[in-house]
Amino acid sequence: MSVFEMPDFDRHEEVVFHQDAGTGLRAIVAIHSTVLGPAAGGCRMWTYPSSNEAVTDVLRLSRGMSYKNAMAGLAFGGGKAVIIADPKRPKTPELFEAYGRFVNSLGGRYITAEDVGTTTTDMESVARQTRCVSGLTRHAGDVGGDPGPKTALGVYLGLKAAAKFRLGRADLQDLKIAVQGLGGVGYHLCRLLAADGARLVVADVRAVATDRAADEWGAVPVAAHDILYEDVEIFAPCALGAILNAHSIPRLKAKVVAGAANNQLALDRDGLTLHAAGVLYAPDYVINAGGIINVFHEYYGVSSEAQVHAAIAGIPARLTDIFERSRRENRPTNAVADKLARARIEVGHTRLVA
Ligand code: NAD
Repeated sequence: MSVFEMPDFDRHEEVVFHQDAGTGLRAIVAIHSTVLGPAAGGCRMWTYPSSNEAVTDVLRLSRGMSYKNAMAGLAFGGGKAVIIADPKRPKTPELFEAYGRFVNSLGGRYITAEDVGTTTTDMESVARQTRCVSGLTRHAGDVGGDPGPKTALGVYLGLKAAAKFRLGRADLQDLKIAVQGLGGVGYHLCRLLAADGARLVVADVRAVATDRAADEWGAVPVAAHDILYEDVEIFAPCALGAILNAHSIPRLKAKVVAGAANNQLALDRDGLTLHAAGVLYAPDYVINAGGIINVFHEYYGVSSEAQVHAAIAGIPARLTDIFERSRRENRPTNAVADKLARARIEVGHTRLVA
């Protein structure tokens, strides 16, 4: 099947394939839209079983970045990169330098950063070959660095807005919250939730991560396959995509889903199922925008940490607006968010062609 016929092809502006014989790099960049600015989004390294699955992922993720950047009010379009390789195997600086040359060849239309499977150190290698990179090692006083803690801050603020809207709760004291995945985002999210007195139930495939959460905050570890179905008020997915699906939704006990993972809904229509079941879903690309907000401020290099925090503090109000529209119009929150994001891009497009 050609890319144009793939179900996730959404009039993307460019899909560029690249291989580098010297380092073995195989990478794909998808530029969904540059209407609002250069297409920005992270670089995922993953062992895709086939190149078709890699293309599907990069198409979906890059469209998600267009929507995320539009909803966050950033002058960024949407793009994403995937490198087809195992992130657990030793990574070489040369591979990321080759990737940097590829990004540079796109002439500034795509700006890269870290994502699942890549790190700030990898981005330092990329930065030796291109200026179109953000999420670099943070130096004292600088804005930037690992976006994970900033994503966690946005999710924390967004989760509180969802708790207020759906549960009528002004604080999180003694609220039971299940967190799936205690990595770069989930760990920092738990820290913030625990400081507010939430009772945490956690799961990770790495026992060391759940042991640490138990030690630090008295979190209760449960098996990875049980975490979705815990008897909690809020479920915060911070690991995998497509976890909200026809199989899982009927078994959820949480009344709110608010977490960092990208592409939480397996299909758009799963948002409708959640809505019909009375589960308030915080659209992933709205609540998890803290990291890209950080990347934006780092890339343009004109902001202070306080400005980054102020921009992230806009996330709960955007979510509450979506929740209110959803209630008023009796439509799923994901559909409300998609419509708002598309409208913002459309307005930008109208300005461009006028
Ligand atoms: P990460 O790789 O640092 O952490 C993911 C964690 O999930 C790891 O600890 C891993 O062991 C765990 N995990 C994997 N499979 C699991 C399973 N089946 N059950 C429970 N735990 C499992 O990733 P991250 O940076 O923390 O990102 C988490 C999610 O948030 C991802 O979906 C990512 O795309 C999304 N996201 C991250 C950022 C960011 O700034 N890092 C920004 C936006 C969205």
